[in-house]
Amino acid sequence: YRIKQAGGGHAAFQRQQDQRTTIQMERLTALHRALERDELQLYFQPVVQAESHAVVAHEALLRWVRPTGVVSPLDFIPLAETSGLIVPIGRWVLQQAINALKARRISRVSVNVSALEIRQPDFVEFLQWILTETGVEPRRIWLELTESSMLEPRFAPVLQDLHALGVRTALDDFGNGYSSLMALTSLPIELVKIDRSFTAPIGEVTPSGQRALEVVRGIVALATALGLPTVAEGIETPRQAALLSQVGCTFFQGYLFGRPQPLS
Ligand code: C2E
Ligand code: MG
Ligand code: MG
Ligand code: MG
Repeated sequence: YRIKQAGGGHAAFQRQQDQRTTIQMERLTALHRALERDELQLYFQPVVQAESHAVVAHEALLRWVRPTGVVSPLDFIPLAETSGLIVPIGRWVLQQAINALKARRISRVSVNVSALEIRQPDFVEFLQWILTETGVEPRRIWLELTESSMLEPRFAPVLQDLHALGVRTALDDFGNGYSSLMALTSLPIELVKIDRSFTAPIGEVTPSGQRALEVVRGIVALATALGLPTVAEGIETPRQAALLSQVGCTFFQGYLFGRPQPLS
């Protein structure tokens, strides 16, 4: 009886797994179609100078605009990454972002890049090709990489090539990962983006708010010593901006200065 129970339980588990796989397959097909049907859209969020609040750049943030609503990248980037679809999607993103630069709709752009994209042997060549086609200056492009993917030593030569091309590289979500400090020593990074998990509690009159501010002060001191500017992500209140300005952040990004939105 007990064995039969266990067997029944396993069958139910298997059914659930199959169902989950089917749902994932359907989502993947839909995402594939999204790319073909132009359902993907780039939103742009301003990055401002900490002192003057002048807009210096925009971060390109992907959205999937479905008839049922707008889907967050957090809900489809992981699937795009595991399926490999991030490669054509990422190329579309780069193309769109650089087109916006060419049309002078924005002056600088920061583009998120997945590890799998960078791992393509022709990644640098592709970027070079769009830059040549469009005549856009490479200095106007920041590529945002997340630390865990950048830490792999085999990426160092690619980053060097990007550097040689004149494109700049940023370490995204700094502090929210494993061994993030090592990336600063071994890779040619030119900008540090401080993760929102550090900036969010700042301004709260709590011990963790106070500690977060001190941690950010330390990150900024470290970046400054390395000659690297910093972006504080996720600024939502004037109080956060004031405190982060005091600790010497170079740039701000967050709802206080503008939400991600399509270029009008
Ligand atoms: P990220 O690169 O760290 O982007 C910052 C995220 O913080 C964005 O979420 C942005 O909308 C959100 N944000 C900005 N300011 C605020 C604020 O003041 N408060 C709060 N609560 N959130 C704020 P989003 O647009 O949902 O993107 C999530 C992540 O998806 C990005 O994190 C990035 O890792 C990834 N992603 C987005 N677009 C692309 C893309 O084109 N390619 C790749 N590979 N990844 C992308
Ligand atoms: Mg980013
Ligand atoms: Mg980030
Ligand atoms: Mg992130």
